[in-house]
Formats: sequence, C-alpha cells, structure tokens
Amino acid sequence: MARTIGPVCKLCRREGEKLFLKGARCLSPKCAIERRGYAPGQHGKTSQFKRGRSTDYLNQLREKQKARRIYGVLEAQFRRYYEIAQRSKGVTGAMLLSLLESRLDNVVFRLGLATSRAQGRQLVAHGHIDVNGRRTKSPSYVCKAGDVITIHPTSQTSPYFKNVQKEVAEYVPPKWLSLDPSQMSGKVHSRPNREEIDLSLNEQLIVEYYSR
Ligand code: SF4
Repeated sequence: MARTIGPVCKLCRREGEKLFLKGARCLSPKCAIERRGYAPGQHGKTSQFKRGRSTDYLNQLREKQKARRIYGVLEAQFRRYYEIAQRSKGVTGAMLLSLLESRLDNVVFRLGLATSRAQGRQLVAHGHIDVNGRRTKSPSYVCKAGDVITIHPTSQTSPYFKNVQKEVAEYVPPKWLSLDPSQMSGKVHSRPNREEIDLSLNEQLIVEYYSR
C-alpha cells in the first residue's frame, strides 16, 4: 500500500494552488500557500519566469499530477485507474474521476468522518472502518452502490469518533452519499457523476496526457 510521503504542502506549492491535503490547517493562516505562495526549492520564486512558455504537454502533466496528489495515488495505480476508465462505457475523464472519488478513503472523507483524504486513508488502514459489516483495511477499495460504511465496533467508543459524531451532526454529505450521524453510518447510493464532484480539475487534459 504505497503512498506519497514527505512534506505535502510542497505539493500544493508546486501546483500553485490549494489542494486541501491537510484538513483544518488548509483553512487557517498557517497554510503554506498563504505564507509562501511560490514554487518550492531554491529557485522557486523565480522558476515560473525561467520555465518559459507553458506548453500543451506541461498543462496536461500538471493536471494529471494535481489529480494524483489530491487523491494521494501513485503513478502506477493512477494509470491503472485510467485504463479501467478507458475500458468502461462513458466519457473516460468523467469515469476516471468517478473511480477516484469512489475510493474508500475518499468516501470516508466525503462522509465527514475524516478531515482529509489522508486521514481517511489512515482510518481505513488502521482498521476503524467496516464496509457492509466487514472490516476493510484497503483505502483503495472502490465503493459501489448499496455499500454501507460504518465504524468498526471496537472503535465506536474512541474519543476521536465521539468527537466526530458531534461535528457531523449538521454535516450534509454529497448527494451520492447519505449519513446517519446517530449511528455513525453512511451509505453509497451510486457512483458520483462529474457534476457531483466539486473539484476544479480538467479531466480532459488528463486523458490527453495518457493518449499521447
Ligand atoms: Fe496545501 Fe493544506 Fe498545506 Fe495549504 S495547508 S499548502 S492547502 S496542504
């Protein structure tokens, strides 16, 4: 279960925008984009001038990297998602985002049980999440319509989930999910379509990147 390690704020600074990888910190003045809104590295402040004209390839690459970083997926796995999306019926770019959005770590985040996808991933990997009553430790599990997400019985009384229960009382998840705060359980109604994914990604550029 490989994942990106290292300072994640640098990833936002490289993309030049907030990718919201750190939960509450991203909304605070401590956000690195607010404090140092230029590319990382010794020549970060001037690199945008040295890099020269942006090309089609550069735009496609940056969009692909942005999507990868938002969902915390390494290159080989991301390419596999692209290949699955390509073989599926429908628009490849939209299918790719739908697949990424249906990952269990993202669903835990979208249900409000975690403040970031990285935290969602940790909750899953540490065995705190059940899918259809069975403990599931794979953050990359792709949820399907009808799946019920619950907190594992031994974790339900932990201070973390007691606190989350209070915080999600008023939380409204995306339309393709529903949440019962009293039971701390969520349900997946369908795979999300593109309109239900509130990310400013140009998935067409990602498709063009892999179609070269
Ligand atoms: Fe990105 Fe969040 Fe770090 Fe800001 S605090 S740079 S949004 S990960």
